[in-house]
Amino acid sequence: MGKPITNDLTWSVSRARLFRSCQRAYYYAYYGAWGGWSTDAPVVARLLYRLKQIQSFPLWGGGIVHEVIRDALTRCAMQQKPVVLEELQAQARTMLRKGWVESRDHAWEQDPKRTTNLFEHYYGEGRDIPREQTDALKEGIYTALDNFVHCDTLAEVLKLPYRCWAELDKLESFIGGELPADDRAPALPLKVWCAIDLAYFDQQGTLHIIDWKTGSEHKEELRLQLACYALYAMKKYQLPLEKITLGGVILNDGGRLSPYAISKENLVAATDQMLKSACAMRGKLQDVTANTANEEEFEFTQNAVFCNSCPYRQACPNVGGTLPE
Ligand code: SF4
Repeated sequence: MGKPITNDLTWSVSRARLFRSCQRAYYYAYYGAWGGWSTDAPVVARLLYRLKQIQSFPLWGGGIVHEVIRDALTRCAMQQKPVVLEELQAQARTMLRKGWVESRDHAWEQDPKRTTNLFEHYYGEGRDIPREQTDALKEGIYTALDNFVHCDTLAEVLKLPYRCWAELDKLESFIGGELPADDRAPALPLKVWCAIDLAYFDQQGTLHIIDWKTGSEHKEELRLQLACYALYAMKKYQLPLEKITLGGVILNDGGRLSPYAISKENLVAATDQMLKSACAMRGKLQDVTANTANEEEFEFTQNAVFCNSCPYRQACPNVGGTLPE
């Protein structure tokens, strides 16, 4: 029998972003929705779990680009298949069609995790999504894939033997530091999650870590993300920082490589930021040892822009939503 799944306090860049954006949405995602994948779960957890899977158009499009790239590179590594733009775009088109039909026909009622549920459908109150919006999404995906296929980074990677490819979009974790003891809990190692889009060793033994960006380049957040990747890679591959380069490839801007020079001071600052953020999350818990939380402790955001695109609108009293009894 496998190890039972437990809800633990861990850290990731996306978890920290949600906590900063709206604590109540963070509560819904990491506590309210917990266990909601089971048909035996309380109705509230099942609803919140469904809402947690809702994706906006840009998120959906970005996810498709990442999946198509990962599949193409995997085929390349495992079966020596060339990367052909038309094949990538055809796969994206199939995924778009499939996801659209699933979302429109409420396939998520049966399987919220493995089917697409689009914000624009779910909260659209039956309105049609304008054709221009769907065409723009498709064009954006096609362009991102075109830029991927023709970018210098891919050309560089394809010159190397596959044994030099180190990471390919797989969820991994490492211990990012120790949460200090406080009056409610002893010191605890902090598990940090990360998934490096691509990392490869060059002939000189330098590890190049790449993040595919499909949206805008938020430099501060990307720097933190890349610093986490560096910390992970230094531990896993026993490398000094000097043997690691980091960068984002901006797929909606010609596939240009945006390099990030990460110093030892940046790593210290990133570790500090992770621990402070995790301490703030822990400070909100009802029972620190059991990692349980009380909804009322998690404030609503004051920023209506977050609420307008929030997947938890149906449940959140801040915008007139209600939870089922
Ligand atoms: S609707 Fe607004 S306040 Fe409520 S969870 Fe979403 S972002 Fe937070």
